[in-house]
Amino acid sequence: MNILVINCGSSSLKFQLINSDTEAVLAKGLCERIGIDGRLTYQPAGGAKEVTDDAMPTHTEAIQLVINALTNEKTGVIKSLSEVGAVGHRVVHGGEKFASSVVITPEVKAAIEECNDLAPLHNPANLIGIEACEKLMPGVPMVAVFDTAFHQTMPGKAYTYGLPYEYYEKYKVRRYGFHGTSHSYVSKRLAEFLGKDVKDMKIIVCHLGNGASVSAVLNGESVDTSMGLTPLEGLVMGTRSGDLDPAILEFLAKKENMDIAALMNMLNKKSGVFGVSGGVSSDFRDLDEAAEAGNDKAQLALDVFAYRVLKYIGAYAAAMNGVDAIAFTAGIGENSASMRSRICENLGYLGVTIDEAANAKRGEDNIISTPDSKVTVAVIPTNEELAIARETLALVK
Ligand code: ADP
Repeated sequence: MNILVINCGSSSLKFQLINSDTEAVLAKGLCERIGIDGRLTYQPAGGAKEVTDDAMPTHTEAIQLVINALTNEKTGVIKSLSEVGAVGHRVVHGGEKFASSVVITPEVKAAIEECNDLAPLHNPANLIGIEACEKLMPGVPMVAVFDTAFHQTMPGKAYTYGLPYEYYEKYKVRRYGFHGTSHSYVSKRLAEFLGKDVKDMKIIVCHLGNGASVSAVLNGESVDTSMGLTPLEGLVMGTRSGDLDPAILEFLAKKENMDIAALMNMLNKKSGVFGVSGGVSSDFRDLDEAAEAGNDKAQLALDVFAYRVLKYIGAYAAAMNGVDAIAFTAGIGENSASMRSRICENLGYLGVTIDEAANAKRGEDNIISTPDSKVTVAVIPTNEELAIARETLALVK
């Protein structure tokens, strides 16, 4: 069966068409500037990438253009829409309502809408994508795969904030965690790669991309993760601050005459390694280059990033009373050997030894610790689209 995987944002939409039998990507692409003007990037497997500027006043036109591209006589990969067996939608926030993926029904859509308050930038866009697909592909089963679902196994002691309990009761203010599809996929893949059963393992997954989070996966279940009510908590990220003293907000509000919106914008868009480096970049390749050229703030940003990841690894080893394996994934985790080695420098007390030659190698799943390292450290490329396609298949077949 062919499964269309959709990741819909407020003005963009990523897609992949995956053959669920072979797990091959038949075509993939991206719609950008939806509601502004519109640009479609489309790439069939083995074919050239095409970029076309096409009007996309709404997500419905964007998805129609995706369907046109997929069924195009020359560059398409299917003859008609009847060759799409199901659609898998990434949905950011499932609150406490969804601990696993579900087939989308009117009740499910209503429940997703009830989570809009928790992810005001993401969930409404995810719903728009679902409704546009329903309109253009009537009768095709659709599945929602939630970023938060994998972390619903966290115990109360991990997800409860030190706030008056009434805010949890009234508004469900608690930690949820994100990147769940990736943490789930990578922890399972790591166990499989090591020839072990994930149900017998203590794994720490470091998903280090522009957005970044660490999770503690005990016997296949997430027991803690660094993001919270929103994806702002935890690690120092590309442009997000991660953990900080909440009293800083009042302090800066007074000093800089900032309101809540300005503070939130600063924490989400102007902080992280971008902010620490004095605005050099949120991209680690630029930061590496600047640090090598002698830029102290870029160097500090890299150090701060690595140190925060290191602290979370220490915390999660404590949370699980040990760790068998650590996985690095996403843009930085998969590509930056120097960052991996910097993070692991102080993990000697856990029995981690890195094989720098193995760490320097590029490619697929790769063990970067020495054979005698007490904890296995590996690079496991994430594949959220494939994970969504698998979840979708499991629910519709
Ligand atoms: P997201 O999906 O959150 O946007 P990605 O997982 O694609 O993020 O990661 C993007 C980040 O990966 C970029 O900000 C960049 O810093 C980092 N990255 C990509 N390639 C490299 C590389 N070769 N070395 C260091 N960092 C890299």
